Formats: sequence, C-alpha cells, structure tokens
Amino acid sequence: MDDMYAELTAPNNVKFTQPLGLFIENEWRSSSKGERIVTVNPADEKEICAVHGAGSKDVDMAVQAARRAFIGEWRDMDSSARGNLLQTLADLVEQHADVLATIDAWDNGKSYHAARNEDIVGAVALLRYYAGWADKLHGTAIDPNPDKLAYVLREPVGVCGAIIPWNFPLVNLVIKIAPALAAGNTIVVKAAEQTPLSALYFASLVKKAGLPPGVVNVLNGLGRETGSAIAAHPEVDQISFTGSTPTGKQIMKTAAGTLKRVIMETGGKSPLLVFPDADLEQAVRWGHRGIMSNQGQVCSGTSRIFIHADIYDRFVNLFAAEVDRVSKIGDPFQLDTFQGPQVTREQFNRVLTYIETGKREGAKLVCGGTAYKNTQGRGLYIAPTVFTDVTDDMAIAQEEVFGPFVVVSPFREEGEVIERANNTIFGLGAAIFTQDISRALRISKKIQSGSESALTHALSNSANAVLPAAIWINSSNNDDVRVPFGGYKQSGFGREMGEEGIHAYTITKSVHINLGAKL
Ligand code: NAD
Repeated sequence: MDDMYAELTAPNNVKFTQPLGLFIENEWRSSSKGERIVTVNPADEKEICAVHGAGSKDVDMAVQAARRAFIGEWRDMDSSARGNLLQTLADLVEQHADVLATIDAWDNGKSYHAARNEDIVGAVALLRYYAGWADKLHGTAIDPNPDKLAYVLREPVGVCGAIIPWNFPLVNLVIKIAPALAAGNTIVVKAAEQTPLSALYFASLVKKAGLPPGVVNVLNGLGRETGSAIAAHPEVDQISFTGSTPTGKQIMKTAAGTLKRVIMETGGKSPLLVFPDADLEQAVRWGHRGIMSNQGQVCSGTSRIFIHADIYDRFVNLFAAEVDRVSKIGDPFQLDTFQGPQVTREQFNRVLTYIETGKREGAKLVCGGTAYKNTQGRGLYIAPTVFTDVTDDMAIAQEEVFGPFVVVSPFREEGEVIERANNTIFGLGAAIFTQDISRALRISKKIQSGSESALTHALSNSANAVLPAAIWINSSNNDDVRVPFGGYKQSGFGREMGEEGIHAYTITKSVHINLGAKL
C-alpha cells in the first residue's frame, strides 16, 4: 500500500495527501501490470509524483464494479437521495477547494487564481445544478385514442465510460460525472495522463461523501491503452469523450464494435466578428480573454478574429495594447499571474511550430512569436502571439493550435464574413460584436456552432460560468451551467450542461396500455 499515497507540499506550501492508485469500488488498487505514469509541473518540468496506470484487466474490474453498483443500488435509489449525495459531494469539493485548485495549478500550469475562482467554482456549480435535477427527471404520458394510453419512462443508460482531456482537469471530470450520476448511471472515468491528480483527489471525496462503492470509478492511464479499453468494453453502455477531433474519430471506431452510444466534445477554431458599430473597447477585452485565457487551451477559444475593414487598424492596435497590459506571464501561484506555462513540452512545441508556420505562410506577426523566458529561464511559457493579415487558406487559419495564439483578418460584408466564419471543419463557438440586434440575431442563425440560446449568454457575468459554449453576442466564452454546450460539424455532437446535458445520460422506454381494443 506504500505507493497508494504521496504526502506532497505544493509550491504555494499547501500540504496534502495525494492518492495515486486506481479508484475502483471506493478502494485504491494497484495497477495490475505495475505501470506508473509520471506527472510533471510544467512551470519547471520537475516530477510531482507517479500514479498507477490501468491496463485492460483493471478497466474490466472497474466496469464490473460499476455494473454491480448500477444494478445493486444506484439505479433504484430514491432520486432525492441521489441528489442529496451529489450535494454532499459539492459541499466537500467546496471545503477542499484550496487543495483542488493547488493541484490543478501545479499539475496543469493554470493560474491558481483561475483554478480557484473559475474551475472549482464551476465544478461545484455543475454538481449542485445536476443534484437539483436528480428528482426532477420524468417521462411523459401520451393518449392517442380512447382505447390506448402510453407512457414514456426516462431511464438511466447504465454503465457510462468517460474519457477527458487535460485543459480543465476537474471541470471536465465533473461535467460528465454529475449528470451521469444524477440520472442514475454509474461511471468509469479515465483522466488525462498529463493531469491525473485532481481526479484522484476528487475520488477520495466521492468516498467521503458516502456514495456507494462502484458508482464512481476513476482510472488513469494512456489513451491508446486505458482509454481504448473503456471504449471497447462490451459492458460499457455509453461513451462520453472530450478531446481532440482525431482521437474522437478513433474512439467512435472502437465504440462501433459494440454499437455504443457516444457523446463527442471535440476541437474548435471559433471565430469572433467585430462590426464598426461595436463597443470597440469591450470587443478588444472580450476578444483577448476569449483566446488568451487558460493559456489559450480552450476548445472554443475565439482563435480567429474577423474585423470590419473600417476599424481594422484601430482594433489591431488596441488588441496589441491589451495583450501587453493583461498578459502577466509567470508562476501560476503568483496571484496576479494571468498566463502560466503550456501543459506539456509537446503542446509547447506544437504552438512554436504553428508560430513558424504562420511566419512561413506570410502572416504579419504583431505580438509574441517566441517562447517566453521567465526570470528563472525555465518553464513552458509562450509569449502571447497575434498574427494579422491572415488569409483563410493558411494553416494557421484552419487548424486548431490550442495555445495563446490568434489570427486576425479584415472583412467588408456581412455575407462574406458569415461564409468565412463557417469555413473550417469545426463548429464550436462564435462571438459577434455589434450594437445592431437584428444583425446579431441574423448572423447567429447562420453561424454553424452549437448553442441554441444565444440571447441568454449576452453580456451575462454569471458565477456559474464553467466551460466555453456556442454563440455569444457582445461577449466571448462566458458560458453557464444551465445552458447546453456542444458542437456542430467536426467539433462533435451531443450536448453537455443544461437539461440536454442530463438527457444525454438517459434512454427512453415506451409502455403501451390497451384500455379496451379487442381483436
Ligand atoms: P486528446 O484527444 O489527445 O486526449 C483526450 C483524452 O483521450 C485523453 O484522456 C487521452 O488519454 C484519451 N485518448 C487518446 N487516444 C485515445 C484512444 N485511442 N482511445 C481512447 N482514448 C484516447 O486531447 P487533448 O490533447 O488531451 O485535449 C485537447 C483537445 O481537447 C483539443 O482538441 C480541444 O479542442 C479538445 N477539447 C474539447 C472540448 C469540448 O467540449 N468540445 C473541451 C475541452 C477540450
């Protein structure tokens, strides 16, 4: 049991006990094949600790545990009692917020301030929102004629598999666990191998909250092994995936072997449009946060900015000044840090490669364009990078970079910019800046990205904001747990958050009652 826990002291001197094992049936277990995955602090590339990596035998054990818990207790538990357990879990996450924020800042490189005030707050909001749904899910009755009554039950799907990325380690975990559990499912989650720690710490709170063994099982491991074993397992009824588009396609192929239901939340290259009548200062601020937050590692980050030609030069100057003013780069634990390091050397190199591509393609570099050296001269930092005069055929205008990297280009006509905004394989988010409400609504109907309720986003400043969603009018990436989020095209399908987010974890069953028809 020695390597089941590590006593850690983080760079901010917060001390905590970090679980390292595989969380199956509310117990910590060793990897059956002795695999360990080392996790690294991207601010200095030093090892934090090593966690157990699950092989296919461990995945099978977790799935069997989830099946027993589903049939044995969870599916049939009084729905209010299920909701109360989720509320208790939310209380515990709140009580452990400092440790959880410390872990995500250390493991992922995001600023502690953002982890504490956005990620943890968002995770608690998700747990409470779906706890509230647990006893409000219901079916419908249909009476087609006097001889027939039918009713439709909304039932849990069964054992759900979830595979998540590293950019919002805790939020990505909870956005799947909360609705799945509220609807009466059990779950096996694989965290990202780059950021495994907060998922395990969260699992310890699951046990503390009193959830029955097997309801939540948390594994770490590599995608091609642990992830694909979950996607292939015949006893997993549904897979919910968040990550890159190529991995999503691979998981769909694997899941096709057992015709699993799948939910796909994949990549993006989201546009932000600014018209001459917009409040330019606000467009600049939202546009900056919309791409530069979380080190640019946001699936619906507004990474393509289209500016009307009449205000193009002014916007570019103001945007460059905003980058200069806000982008305090450095130690994630300094309270005024806006931007920490990229999550891994691989991602750091990926962004640098796209910077070289942009230069080669002939775009004009206005800010950044290099690694950023902090005072210690180490860490995976990128200077926030802005390319202007970008044309739509350039790779930097089409491909997801996933870093503090934005491309800007001018437009003249509304029809032209709609076509150009839609001209990628993705369709996740879009922001529109204009004071003309008719234009904003007209464009939001024509842009291919996911949310149905653009107006509810407008200028909202909700404390419940968690993850990016679809169309924002006069803002960018200010989502809300109560509003569905998801993609069009190769950004995925299925919705998370809101009522649709819990319906995604249910299946309907129709019951026909004969009231008197005779044969
Ligand atoms: P990734 O696709 O490399 O990995 C995501 C997860 O999939 C990880 O847990 C990984 O281990 C696992 N995985 C990898 N190969 C697998 C396989 N063959 N079978 C099963 N599982 C496998 O993505 P990433 O680099 O971790 O995350 C960044 C990507 O996530 C970006 O493209 C971003 O846009 C996307 N993302 C999307 C959303 C959304 O809601 N649409 C949200 C956040 C991130």
